[in-house]
Amino acid sequence: MFKRRNFLKKSFLGAIALSTAATACQSEDTPSGEPEPLNNSNPNSIAGTPVVIATWPHEPATAEAMRVITESGRAVEAVESGVKVVEADPDDTSVGYGGLPDRSGVVTLDACIMDETGNAGSVTYLQNILHPISVARLVMDETPHVMLSGAGALAFAKSKGFEETNLLTEGSKAAYEKWLADHQDPAVDEDQHDTIGMLAIDRQGNISGACTTSGAAYKLPGRVGDSPIIGAGLFVDNEVGAATATGLGELVMKTLGSFLVVELMRGGASPQAACEEAVRRISEKHLAGMSSPPQVGFIAINKKGEHGAYSLTKGFRYTIYQGDANKVLDSEFELK
Ligand code: ASP
Repeated sequence: MFKRRNFLKKSFLGAIALSTAATACQSEDTPSGEPEPLNNSNPNSIAGTPVVIATWPHEPATAEAMRVITESGRAVEAVESGVKVVEADPDDTSVGYGGLPDRSGVVTLDACIMDETGNAGSVTYLQNILHPISVARLVMDETPHVMLSGAGALAFAKSKGFEETNLLTEGSKAAYEKWLADHQDPAVDEDQHDTIGMLAIDRQGNISGACTTSGAAYKLPGRVGDSPIIGAGLFVDNEVGAATATGLGELVMKTLGSFLVVELMRGGASPQAACEEAVRRISEKHLAGMSSPPQVGFIAINKKGEHGAYSLTKGFRYTIYQGDANKVLDSEFELK
């Protein structure tokens, strides 16, 4: 079921290059035996900045981010404003207000942000705050730390003027009660994915990213996913590009997926090839024992504004705003 490829490591991760992946990848050994970097491209990818890209169909969010960029905002301001649209949307059951709760009925939020300087901020297991991404931004900008968690994150948010609010909507409460009636086992609902990871390049050519989620639906209390983990759910390197992830966070954490995608691009891979390799790393090493493969998807951009997207299973979609077009595209996927 899974495609094989040989993985060759040069002197450092940043020089990673890969040998054959029979169908989707185009690299071949050179006469000297050195593998060439992967460079297969996404047919929808064109160079061009500014650009905003987000996991899943989130056109209002990418539109808001592009509005900020058009008004000469920094990419970091754009991604914060963009993902806030989804955090406030009660109909998105994987992010912020209206997010599905853990199995004790509590909505807990994870979010992180990275700017063009490599600065990073994150909150995990945050409760009762509408905009965790803005708390993560303040952790980045106003503390010596990268990550605040749980009660400490909440206390920090309140000290900065954020007000507590109930994030459990009638809809998500009803869904939780139905789930409780149907499921007494410890499975999480792996079909719930709308986490927004957003990457942007502004008019100065600077790259930033943000990622925010209520995490896996009906997770064990205390569970934190990949989304607030720098390098797992999001990674930005202004010299190279950026990547963000959605889907079953445990698999993304085990492979440090977004960092891997950016390091592959540093080694010469296209954003598409890098996303495909990160997905294959999961499919080859981490699906044993699973009755059905879960979803994991990556999106990435490089410094030129070219993009890539790839997922484990069918159904991953993403939104890209580039030039005058703000559109949702289907991602290619691995497990056919
Ligand atoms: N990656 C998120 C998590 O595992 C969930 C998702 O994207 O659906 O918390």
